[in-house]
Amino acid sequence: MEKLINKIKQIVSSENVLTDMEERYVYALDATNKQNIENLPDVVVFVETIEQVQQVIKLAYENQISVIARGAGTNLVGACIVKKGGIVLNFSKMNKILDINRENLTVRVQPGVVIGHLQEEVEKSGLFYPPDPSNLKVSTIGGSIALSSGGPRTFKYGSTKDYIINLKVVLADGRIINTGSNTAKNATGYHLSQLFVGSEGTLGIIVEALIKLIPKPEGSKVILAYFDKISEAVHAVNIILQNKLVPATLDIMDKKTLQTVEQFYPAELSTDKDAALFLEVDGYFTSLDYQQEKIIELCKKSGSSDIQFAKTEEEAQRIWTARRSAFAACAKLKPNVVAEDVVVPREKIVELVKGVKEICDKNNLMVCIMGHIGDGNIHPNIPLDLNNDEDVKNYAKTKDEIHQLAIDLGGTLSGEHGIGCEKSKYMTNAIDVVTLEYMKKIKRIFDEKNILNPEKIF
Ligand SMILES: Cc1cc2nc3c(=O)[nH]c(=O)nc-3n(C[C@H](O)[C@H](O)[C@H](O)COP(=O)(O)OP(=O)(O)OC[C@H]3O[C@@H](n4cnc5c(N)ncnc54)[C@H](O)[C@@H]3O)c2cc1C
Repeated sequence: MEKLINKIKQIVSSENVLTDMEERYVYALDATNKQNIENLPDVVVFVETIEQVQQVIKLAYENQISVIARGAGTNLVGACIVKKGGIVLNFSKMNKILDINRENLTVRVQPGVVIGHLQEEVEKSGLFYPPDPSNLKVSTIGGSIALSSGGPRTFKYGSTKDYIINLKVVLADGRIINTGSNTAKNATGYHLSQLFVGSEGTLGIIVEALIKLIPKPEGSKVILAYFDKISEAVHAVNIILQNKLVPATLDIMDKKTLQTVEQFYPAELSTDKDAALFLEVDGYFTSLDYQQEKIIELCKKSGSSDIQFAKTEEEAQRIWTARRSAFAACAKLKPNVVAEDVVVPREKIVELVKGVKEICDKNNLMVCIMGHIGDGNIHPNIPLDLNNDEDVKNYAKTKDEIHQLAIDLGGTLSGEHGIGCEKSKYMTNAIDVVTLEYMKKIKRIFDEKNILNPEKIF
């Protein structure tokens, strides 16, 4: 390893190589809340060019050493936890927006670009990159492609997968491929770009991405509608859609989440209702009042007992901040919080929410439920103490039961957070034997030596 590290230093220069225990320790963690000193990488390498990535990976390939790509390390499924030592490739220095093309409606980026920064920059040109994971101020486009991240706007605009036109990928042996062409349409052979979206760094390392943009909607409005029953909120969503309205965001927070957010980040939320629908409408300025009024009317018809809407940009930001603070607020209830992510067909969402609450109650755990109701995707946030054996035991049971419930309801293990090493044991329950066999074959084709982010997904 020492020899290898010296060679890496020649490729990227010494200041881009971390070998000290204290420095590597940071890389034993991601946002998953699991911490294990055995998971230390042997070396962390800050790459600055595609050629450097190729050379480091070639070395790893020749010496059969693991390579784990890392963006901001904010994933919630142990997707960049180091399992067999090896090299962590840190992309924070490959963080440039290379080209915004207003004619083609595309942006070409390096993988370390932070999503929030990308959005701000394209919006200066009147363009829009909709995928918006709540932690967009820190998470990177590389990590987000590798996990197929979503966010509140997925309902109307789709998730990361819908914006990837072409990826430059360094393969396990150091060679480069382009997964598509730089065109809006492409029906030329297999759609490899989609194969790499959500592949969690297990098939290749993304070193550049060509991303689709759309024109930015002129404006938006935010509405919060409270309901005494979650089923009424779901009914409201159905009625809104039947009336041909397509909100950009259709999110939900349950009572416990509303109370927790209000306790730690006061935003004047009502805390005595069973659920709040968090809606955003967008489009032409002239359409906004109409959409807002119609939605308020339909929510009232569906039983909403209290409706707030933002009259100013400041108020809209306050509501958005409350929405984005939900995970952080839950983290204050106990020493730790784990964020789950399950998805079902939308018609099953009431059963899912009810079932998750029952499972957590039965296992003596608190739960704050929020999520993207329009997508049938919920995030049960479970505050707990990971140093308390009882909590750990109860959580293990809860986690198994929540994922099985999603599968039983015709859903699956993740809508947007991915599988990593946290959910891999459920894959055989969620995916049939033959499909899984073919997924594993794909992994072997791209990574015969199993050096790319091993022990993830499967
Ligand atoms: C508070 C909070 C809120 C969140 N909200 C959301 C949300 O609303 N929606 C959502 O979908 N997710 C959410 N997440 C999950 C996660 O943050 C996102 O999925 C995020 O996009 C991951 O980006 P990252 O840069 O942190 O990736 P990392 O965690 O660093 O990496 C994620 C995966 O991508 C791989 N990877 C990273 N870079 C590359 C590369 N260049 N090539 C190949 N593979 C690579 C890694 O190996 C790993 O498997 C949230 C997380 C937190 C902590």
